[in-house]
Amino acid sequence: MNDKLECLRKLQEVLREKFSLEDQVKSIPAHLNEESEKLEKAEENYKNLSDKLAEIVQEHKSLAIRYEDASAQKISYEKQVEFINTQREFEALAKQLEEAKTLEQSLLKQRDSKDSEEKAMEKEVRKASEELDSQRAIVEEERGKVEGKLDEMTAKIRELEEECEAIKGDQISDELFEKFQNIVRKKGGEGIVPVYGQVCTGCDLILPMQFVIDLQLKTRNGEIEYCPYCSRIIYKEELDEDMEKAYTFEQLEPSKAEGKSQDKKQQDDSQGDDDSGFDSTLGGDFEGF
Ligand SMILES: [Zn+2]
Repeated sequence: MNDKLECLRKLQEVLREKFSLEDQVKSIPAHLNEESEKLEKAEENYKNLSDKLAEIVQEHKSLAIRYEDASAQKISYEKQVEFINTQREFEALAKQLEEAKTLEQSLLKQRDSKDSEEKAMEKEVRKASEELDSQRAIVEEERGKVEGKLDEMTAKIRELEEECEAIKGDQISDELFEKFQNIVRKKGGEGIVPVYGQVCTGCDLILPMQFVIDLQLKTRNGEIEYCPYCSRIIYKEELDEDMEKAYTFEQLEPSKAEGKSQDKKQQDDSQGDDDSGFDSTLGGDFEGF
């Protein structure tokens, strides 16, 4: 393996860590937002319940007053009994007294029921208030944590970028680095992969034999080559003979290889659907295809 490819492999390690941190930086505020949304809901819930309680308190007060009035009216009718002279007057007063008693009883019931309702609502408001306080604390804590974490992660990302610069040295041009970063990002952290025999270990597709022979030369000379199927940077891995055979599917002689090569091609095409296929924005030159 030449220096340039070794650099790319080191860069890949650093870039993986950097991208993972960048993803986390993006996801951290999302968690805070989630907690903030919960806080908003808790605030709304507390406000609704408080409004309801205020309404109930008002109704309770009004019922209490009406009950006191009805009670006073009843007592006043009872006192009038002493001053009654005729049977007719007595009957009329008895009827008024009966009605006053019924009203008093009904208002007493309503007042007591409103009293229970008020106590139950007070309990709910207390609970909502506690929930609100605890959610407020969570958000505050989360915000503190997020700010600390973001600073820490941003610093680490900057460090990793400096590390990349150091690894690049004069081996890797800015242009190649830019391209390579995109590949690593798009290909799940795998931007440079070895070729075993004829097989690209990035996408598991079979490369034409002549391409692999050229690749071997390029690998030795420190030239960059891309997989025509998955666009990753590839290099020829030196394997022992058995391994090399296990990953080789074509013979060099064109007369024998012709039929097989056709089969392989069809296989490649069908497998090609599984991978994202050749991405012309990523790759380099693909002369010969
Ligand atoms: Zn590939």
